[in-house]
Amino acid sequence: YQKSAELLARSKKVLAGGVASEFRKYNHPHAIFYSGGKGSRITDVDGNEYLDFTLSQGPLILGHSHPHVLESVRAYSEEGQLYAGQHIREIELAEKLNKHIPSAELMRFCLDGSEAVQTAFRIARAKTGKSKFLRFEGHYHGWLDNVAWGISTPSEEALGSREAPQVFPWSQGISAGTRDEFVILPWNDLELVRQTVAQHHHELAAIITEPIMCNNGCIVPNEGFLQGLRDICTEYGIALIFDEVITGFRMHLGGAQTYFGITPDLAIFAKAFASGYPISAIVGKKDWMHLVEEAKVIHAGTMNSGNPTVAAAFATIEVLEQDQPHERMFRLGKKIMAGFEKIAAETGQNLIVQGPGPMFNIAFADAPANDYRGTLRYDKAKLGRFVAALHDAGVRIIGRGLCYISAAHTDEDADAFLKAAETILSRGL
Ligand code: PMP
Repeated sequence: YQKSAELLARSKKVLAGGVASEFRKYNHPHAIFYSGGKGSRITDVDGNEYLDFTLSQGPLILGHSHPHVLESVRAYSEEGQLYAGQHIREIELAEKLNKHIPSAELMRFCLDGSEAVQTAFRIARAKTGKSKFLRFEGHYHGWLDNVAWGISTPSEEALGSREAPQVFPWSQGISAGTRDEFVILPWNDLELVRQTVAQHHHELAAIITEPIMCNNGCIVPNEGFLQGLRDICTEYGIALIFDEVITGFRMHLGGAQTYFGITPDLAIFAKAFASGYPISAIVGKKDWMHLVEEAKVIHAGTMNSGNPTVAAAFATIEVLEQDQPHERMFRLGKKIMAGFEKIAAETGQNLIVQGPGPMFNIAFADAPANDYRGTLRYDKAKLGRFVAALHDAGVRIIGRGLCYISAAHTDEDADAFLKAAETILSRGL
């Protein structure tokens, strides 16, 4: 890792903190710089190759450097650099989302997930005339001021009580703005949501949730939980917002809302939308989105939906439509998860694996996999050693244990991942 070490020293002189925050956070011994990626593989500047299950934090659903995406970006860009103006491509892209996503009756394109979340809040406020949001413990909705203070795993103190405190001591040291606009509850406890909304509905504009909790572990909702949220929001006339930044296009072309059959009022799509190009979407039912139409909610942004990013999104969806990789992504993910469970049993490791398949999470914890508060108390140091050992064996996963499957992954990739894990875990950590 000699060249990576040199680049890290160089980066620290001009980039605040250097670039390798993930490595610092998880105590990885090496800060690695990458030089290229193709399909399911990535190469570092020292010439090492890795099987990549990070997909650059999720966006690369087709794998690295998909030729149709690259070619479409080039071709659209050559039509002219059509930023901040009308062009037919934006309509074509919206028509595609409208076809696939149940809640996408009307939409607007933004730059990233964080920005689209804030637009959803704005619409919910404008429509209801109320200003607070109910959100859930352990969920992540971007890094802008109002949501940034909930970034990391809840503390022991917060996990101790059923009713999550309004103010988390989660992210000490993170400088962020107001948190007064949120009521926070534990995830998956419908009765508690019902009681809270009954009490606070006069000030709540919306409930926002990740349809699958993907940012602290990877936990699917309890049977009936999302339907329950839907019913509560309808009863009180508040918005149900699905933050589909991770689940969108990954669980299904029509998002987790199609997979679970629950249609929210507003939803946010980003990450896998455009294979890493910066575009996101705030989509919603006409009843809510018409406020943008009537200019009661400002939506702007110089860089929104320029044609290179629209091209990347359009091409990504075209490939997903044509190749239909979802069934295979589910199968490969579930195969790896089953392999991990077998290895855990054989090696006696307290390893748990959670998730629906196209993404899943690995942790070391003494709790059943469906106990999210138990699994959030995972052994961070041990996971750090595991992630580092995997890396040295040529497999990259996200530092906090999340793994993403792409359309480019194969059975051989799944087998190689499991073989590396088995070697590491039987040796002991
Ligand atoms: N919501 C969720 C569920 C996310 O996972 C993320 C990013 N990890 C965001 C919002 C923010 O998206 P972005 O990083 O594109 O701003």
